[in-house]
Amino acid sequence: MRAVSHDASEQPPAARREALKEVLAQARSCTRCAELAATRKTVVFGAGNANAELMFIGEAPGASEDEQGVPFVGRAGKLLEKLLEEIDIKRADVFIGNTLMCRPPGNRDPLPMELENCHEYMLRKIELIQPTVICSLGNFSTKLLRGDPTGITRLHGQPEVIALGKRAVRLYPIYHPAAALYTPRMLETLREDFSRLPELLASGAPEQPPAEDPQALEVPALADLDDVSASEGEDRQGGTEDDQLGLF
Ligand code: URA
Repeated sequence: MRAVSHDASEQPPAARREALKEVLAQARSCTRCAELAATRKTVVFGAGNANAELMFIGEAPGASEDEQGVPFVGRAGKLLEKLLEEIDIKRADVFIGNTLMCRPPGNRDPLPMELENCHEYMLRKIELIQPTVICSLGNFSTKLLRGDPTGITRLHGQPEVIALGKRAVRLYPIYHPAAALYTPRMLETLREDFSRLPELLASGAPEQPPAEDPQALEVPALADLDDVSASEGEDRQGGTEDDQLGLF
């Protein structure tokens, strides 16, 4: 993955969106995880507003997402949209992604190596979209983003400022909508946690780490994604780049 030539925080939204398109193009031909690259139908990069203040991060694409190349298209996605509407936010205004961009075969849990392979893409998306608030959906993404095994039952609804790559964001762990589909009490809790989102968004972006801070500027090891064959990904994806650009 190519690094941005200068700090993305200085770039206007249009330039960051263009850079995001480049990351999308790289992701579509990614073969870092041999099994996932061989079994996926599409790379589910994430979709929504490339300049979103609010970002959601789920676990991994399922069968429908893999078919359509769009995250959260099933019942959990419909619930997510409904909960957003209840607080006057449209799905198109937010950016939705996952810890993993490819569907694990048989919906098995993502492997640690797969999460590691995909992590750099997630950090680049965060760096370029510059969300104020990131909602981690459920245990899996909450534990991954916090780098800590504390579960969602203890953490949901409690915002905290964390550093993700070069950005400081307000992490807001909430239950995964798929879990809330079957448990009315969980749905009520999820709805309550959603109701506090507008206030959290209104509190604005947290203070960002200084650009000269060497730790903040640290770019994770860049693998040789530039070397992977673009045509291989194009075939598998079954569409042109423009099809996916419509996603954000
Ligand atoms: N569940 C997830 O975590 N992600 C999706 O994209 C769909 C369902």
